[in-house]
Amino acid sequence: MLYGKWRPRGFDEVVGQDHIVRTLRNALASGQVAHAYLFSGPRGTGKTTTARILARSLNCANLTDGEPCNTCPPCRAILAGNALDLIEMDAASNRGIEDIRDLREKIAFAPSDLTKKVYLLDEVHMLTDGAFNALLKTLEEPPPHAVFILATTDLHKVPATIISRCQRYDFHRVPNEAIIDRLQFICEQEGFSVPRDGLLAIAVQSRGGLRDAITMLEQVTARYGNAVTVEDVRAAMGQVSDSRVAGLVSAILADDLGTALEIARTVADDGIDIARFTRATIDLMREIVPEALKREPAAEHPQDELIAATRARADGVRLLAAAIAELAKADFRLDPASPIPLEVACAAVILGGGLPAQPVAVAGGVPAAARQPVERPAGGAAPAPVPSNTPLSREEKFARDLYEHCKMVNPSHAMWLNGSFEVLEMDGAELSLGFQRQMPMGKVDTVCRAMVEEQAAVILGHPVTLKVTLIDGSAQPRRETRRGHLAEAAKAMGATPVGKD
Ligand SMILES: [Zn+2]
Repeated sequence: MLYGKWRPRGFDEVVGQDHIVRTLRNALASGQVAHAYLFSGPRGTGKTTTARILARSLNCANLTDGEPCNTCPPCRAILAGNALDLIEMDAASNRGIEDIRDLREKIAFAPSDLTKKVYLLDEVHMLTDGAFNALLKTLEEPPPHAVFILATTDLHKVPATIISRCQRYDFHRVPNEAIIDRLQFICEQEGFSVPRDGLLAIAVQSRGGLRDAITMLEQVTARYGNAVTVEDVRAAMGQVSDSRVAGLVSAILADDLGTALEIARTVADDGIDIARFTRATIDLMREIVPEALKREPAAEHPQDELIAATRARADGVRLLAAAIAELAKADFRLDPASPIPLEVACAAVILGGGLPAQPVAVAGGVPAAARQPVERPAGGAAPAPVPSNTPLSREEKFARDLYEHCKMVNPSHAMWLNGSFEVLEMDGAELSLGFQRQMPMGKVDTVCRAMVEEQAAVILGHPVTLKVTLIDGSAQPRRETRRGHLAEAAKAMGATPVGKD
């Protein structure tokens, strides 16, 4: 295991926790030893490693500036993992009161091969209430030869009475730069060749956990050999190459179906998670649309080329909105490795322009839309809406689209829009929504406002300001009209009225 092999042997090698090792080293150098330490922080950030270094420093015969020598008999015994007086306990599996009672009985005995008996309790938040009480009694009157090091990923589950008995150290997520430097060092030692962008991708994915980052490096090199490309790293981690996501959006904006299908196919051929790739494409388009809608888009946006391409088309925003809706419909559950749902979505968008596409059936792997191309009006203007199968009014269709769009952005906020409002005005600069109940209206007015305005602008193709009104259901003639409208629609589909009528 690469992680075990390159585990830091001294405080000076611990990565990204300078604030902790400096304090510990100074205290040890001046002979200040606490009887209980509490290490808290995310997984894989060096808590156990630091605890073992501390255990050696507490027992080292040749301590220098707080650093253990790693060569004296106590240091060697701890490094070899056979020191009787370093007792490591995983509280996740020894969490009961009996385990702590057992510990309390043995702690009284003098150490046998070290000068300090060191108890390292990992995941200490897992202890039961009874075990915590027993531990607290020990922490209140510890024998002078005993030192506790408690480690936890979940500090808020540790009782305050325990925390107050310990010297507390909070471990931070390791910054990407520090992870990259450490991975680079390991690569040099092991003879691996990984480009810096590949190491960055690993660091980002590890979210500040150095142990996870080193494990990922090990997996990538085990799979692809000692010389690894950025693409190898991304493929190994199921990540998506940014250039192809942007390439697909660019192809959609250029009406280039050939390139779009080629990208979908190569992504699938490379074994990249195609659902995740599609999701990344949707995310990128959602990033572009609001920029394209601005009067003056940000001067140095990383996607400035795609934003310019969107603005260059009269129907650019409408096209991307249609593409977001189509790609969101692509269902990969039946065959996660197949690019067909993505190909169908691309064909529907590019051949149909900004049109709301009809449902597309897949026959023999050829998208139906590809066999029946929809003619685009000349001049690139937005085509007229195609009459829908169901006779929904524009307002009702917009209400439904708004809910669906918002659901993709933030499902828990979107629930305030689920059937709780009606559209009073949608054609001008003001989008007016009427609510019958205070609660959803308040939520839409406050926490959902930015999302609603943004998504409404995407659907309508122009910026809007949201206005909400409380409406009295009984006094609303519009509602009666609406109901009659739905009843007519239901009758048209063959429904028979029931009830008093
Ligand atoms: Zn030593």
